[in-house]
Amino acid sequence: MAHRVTLIPGDGIGPELAEATRRVLDATGIAFEWEVVDAGEATIATRGTPLPDEVLESIRRNKIALKGPITTPVGSGFRSVNVGLRQALNLYANLRPARSMAGVQSRYDDVDLVIVRENTEDLYAGIEHMVGRDAAESIKIITRSASERIARFAFEYALANGRRKVTAVHKANIMKLSDGLFLEACTHVAADYAGRVEFEDRIVDNMCMQLVQKPDMYDVLVLPNLYGDIVSDLAAGLVGGLGVAPGANIGEDGAVFEPVHGSAPKYAGLNKANPTALILSGALMLRHLGYADIGARVEEAVRAVIAEGRTVTSDLGGSAGTREFADAVIDRLGVTAGAAA
Ligand code: NAD
Repeated sequence: MAHRVTLIPGDGIGPELAEATRRVLDATGIAFEWEVVDAGEATIATRGTPLPDEVLESIRRNKIALKGPITTPVGSGFRSVNVGLRQALNLYANLRPARSMAGVQSRYDDVDLVIVRENTEDLYAGIEHMVGRDAAESIKIITRSASERIARFAFEYALANGRRKVTAVHKANIMKLSDGLFLEACTHVAADYAGRVEFEDRIVDNMCMQLVQKPDMYDVLVLPNLYGDIVSDLAAGLVGGLGVAPGANIGEDGAVFEPVHGSAPKYAGLNKANPTALILSGALMLRHLGYADIGARVEEAVRAVIAEGRTVTSDLGGSAGTREFADAVIDRLGVTAGAAA
């Protein structure tokens, strides 16, 4: 039976990256039925909203979506589609792997981290107010249930993907109640995985320094929302930047797979943009659907094409177009599939 997947091409470079990724995923031999729905700039013009109801209905029905980047118009009064999707579908876990790639310039060649960020609370709860004219307060919300849920997600991800260790990141030495509760919840959940997945914790400032100095010491990191936002960009920087960084937002009722980068409007329609991050997000989707081995094959095919360096896009120093890069990945998939058979 075909997997029905909601495909949101997105804005700017999104449609050409989505087309490249769809072709790569179809080439794996898994049967997909793509339900294409529009969100973003195009639907602001036609529907008066960047996030029409049928987009949410489609994801609720299919429980899985692949999404290109969407432009957030500055100051127009529309809220971000990305934030809207996360809230409407309760996508509580933000997953961002960061793995070094031969052929992508970066400081290290052996980084292999997975950042698991809590997506629903912390300072992002948006509870802010002025106290008089000259002071402002933001309220940080940490609950036991959301903290245990994200910790369990991190441990289950570690188990399912053969990872050895989960590190909880916090500032419980200063925020003894809020971050203390996050750490307590992680420690409590870790006990269920004793002997299968190691557990440790780090204070967030020390974590940042250690990631910069010896990233190979770490494996899966689990963090509250704000630290997760910052540390996941740090991790992307360690492996060559946002252009090759995949991501996923996962909840109990659905999951949306998308690159970390934005819609890069200046490259739109030029067949120049690098589809790596969206293709790797597609590989995460395959893992989520239970095809861990095929997901790994797609990742290896992308890595092989980039390492070889002959058919890469201009951001990686080559002259290939988006389509030609995807063709090279598809060719490589054929080779890998043949070798595995
Ligand atoms: P951006 O990531 O779109 O682009 C920054 C620069 O990075 C580009 O100019 C380009 O040089 C490079 N780049 C990014 N992706 C690339 C790719 N795939 N291939 C080659 N080069 C690439 O960031 P921005 O300019 O800050 O944002 C543009 C728009 O995207 C904004 O409207 C922003 O709100 C939106 N955005 C959306 C998402 C999302 O949908 N998840 C994420 C970030 C930004």
